[in-house]
Formats: sequence, C-alpha cells, structure tokens
Amino acid sequence: MAQKYKIATIGSHSALQILKGAKDEGFETICICLKGREKPYKMYNVADKIITIDNYDGFYDIQEQLIKENAIIIPHASFIAYMGPEKVEKFKVPYFGNKKILDWESDRAMERKWLVKAGLKMPKIFKNPEEIDRPVITKFHGASGGAGYFVAKNLRDWQEKMKNYKGEKDYVIQEYVLGVHCYIHYFHSPLTGEIEILGFDKRYESNVDSLGRISARDQIALPKIDPSYVIVGNMTLVVRESLLPLIIEMGENVVKESKKICPPGLFGPFCLETIITPDIEIITFEISARIVAGTNPYVNGSPYTWLKYDEPMSTGRRIAREIKNAIKEDKLNMVLG
Ligand code: ADP
Repeated sequence: MAQKYKIATIGSHSALQILKGAKDEGFETICICLKGREKPYKMYNVADKIITIDNYDGFYDIQEQLIKENAIIIPHASFIAYMGPEKVEKFKVPYFGNKKILDWESDRAMERKWLVKAGLKMPKIFKNPEEIDRPVITKFHGASGGAGYFVAKNLRDWQEKMKNYKGEKDYVIQEYVLGVHCYIHYFHSPLTGEIEILGFDKRYESNVDSLGRISARDQIALPKIDPSYVIVGNMTLVVRESLLPLIIEMGENVVKESKKICPPGLFGPFCLETIITPDIEIITFEISARIVAGTNPYVNGSPYTWLKYDEPMSTGRRIAREIKNAIKEDKLNMVLG
C-alpha cells in the first residue's frame, strides 16, 4: 500500500532521517535539493529520486510534478523558512501536518497566548523597558537562529546596548532564564489520540556554549565578547525520570489547547523549547510545530523510542509509520493538512 505514495522533502535540516525513515517503512523517497546540495543525500543513499532546483522559488514551480509522483511533503523548519508561511498555505502538494498551526506559531504573541492557555510557564515579558528589573534577552523579529539577540543585565545595560539597534521597533524583551536548556520531542498521533515522547536534546550554540572555556578574568580582559546563539549542532539528553509526568502533561495540554484554537489541532512531531531552573520549574520559551533538528542524533532511535517500539524508531520513521497506518486505515485525510 505504501508503495503508491512517495515521501518528499527539501534536502536540508532533518531530511536524511525523514527519507531514511520513509524507506524503512517501505516508501519511495524524493529529495528536492538546491543545486550543489545533493551530496549528502547521494552519499547516504536515502533518496530514490533527487530533483534539483536553482532556488527555492523553483520548489513552488515543481508542484505539479510532485502531485503526479503521488508525493506527500514532510515539512521541516528549513522548508517553512525558505518557502515562507504564505506560500506554504497555498502549496497544493499533500502536506503532513496542520497548516493552520503556522499562524499560531509564527506570531510570537499568538504563540504565547496558546502556550499560556495550555498552562505552560513562560519567561516574563517586559513590554515597557523601564520595568526591566532582572537580566533580559532581547529578540528581534526575523532574527533567525538567535543571531540577532542580545542579553542585558539591567535597564542601564539594555539602554546602552539598544544604541546599536537604532530604529528597530519590532522586538520582544524577555526575562533571561538561567537553567538547563532542554528541547522536548513529542509526537501526537491523530489516529490513536496518544502523545509520545520521542526524546530530548540540547543545542550546541556558538559562541554562547564556548564562553565557559575562557575564564571570567579573560572574558573581562578581552575587548568585547557578546554571547550569540547561533545553532551549530545538537546533543543527546536524557532527563530525570521524575520530570516525565510533568513533561507528558505539558505535551497533552498543548495538544488539547491546539484543538480549540485551530481544529483539528497539532499533530505529528512537535517540540517544546524549555529551560529547567534549579527549582525544577520548566519554562517554555518557544514551540516548533514539526520535526526539529534536535531529533537528528536519534536516526537509530532514542532511549525513549526503544522503550516503546523495541526497534529503531527515529522521528522521521515515526512520521512515515503514521502515514502508513493512516493509509492502512483509510484515514490519510486525518494526517494531511
Ligand atoms: P530561534 O527561534 O531563532 O532559534 P530562540 O527563541 O529559539 O531563537 O532562541 C535562541 C536561543 O536563545 C535559545 O536556544 C537559547 O539559548 C536562548 N534563549 C532564548 N530565549 C531565552 C530566555 N528567555 N532565557 C535564556 N535564554 C534564551
């Protein structure tokens, strides 16, 4: 049955595991690559077909071809970033996931409303800078990968640093939460109604994760080191088992709330990006409503998927399994948005 459909994605982000997982579940695969980016997909032999495009507008142009191929697109963050949410909305190729969730996720205020309604704890926001009474992180709209963020220790420091961003109006000032960063990988199956935890990761960001390699004395002596949060890679993480009940409940509540704000709600993989404080409070600063690159260390499954499946189960494979089950049960419309 799976042979009738093909799984397609853009060659970037988590495409290796998406395509490998699809093949493991018996699907044929298509990788759409920017010219010059084909090598990894050839090297690991995960794509039955590679379609090369000159730029990401080209992706929009090959829709008819993908429809003829009977392709189902698996979105990932690079797909959304390159296409832009409006084009994704209009994209005609069958798409795994609920597209309506994009509006809630791409707008910081709407995202916050959703997560707060779901009962999650989030960093305090300072609408008025005069109220800054603790260390803060300032996030500019459109800054991606944390490249355009800055940290300030108090109001004066913030005012000083904002001088570098004259004219910028679109930003949010968030309390800087100190703790362990923990990215929680969930999967919600619309077919079974279950929530699964597929794993956790922590990010390796440049240069913030290397500042600890220089002593405080040298940090002060060097002319100017401002932390940046540019993601370079991801590392595996297993959390204290006693945290799991709360973490499961958080995922359940986010899904429950999503059903109210944009039916049929959030399904498939999603990730809560959190910081766990010394008081064991889990503060969520963002949600990704699809597969995250932090699942890439688990191509062969994570400790958690091993517990549940007893066979290698990456997030990519879990997506393909869901599509396969939906086809078997004649409920494909339930997993396509
Ligand atoms: P992007 O969406 O561009 O990846 P994020 O909002 O995920 O940006 O933030 C990038 C990085 O900034 C995070 O991985 C984390 O290291 C840091 N960060 C974000 N928000 C906070 C916060 N409230 N407190 C402390 N660190 C934060």
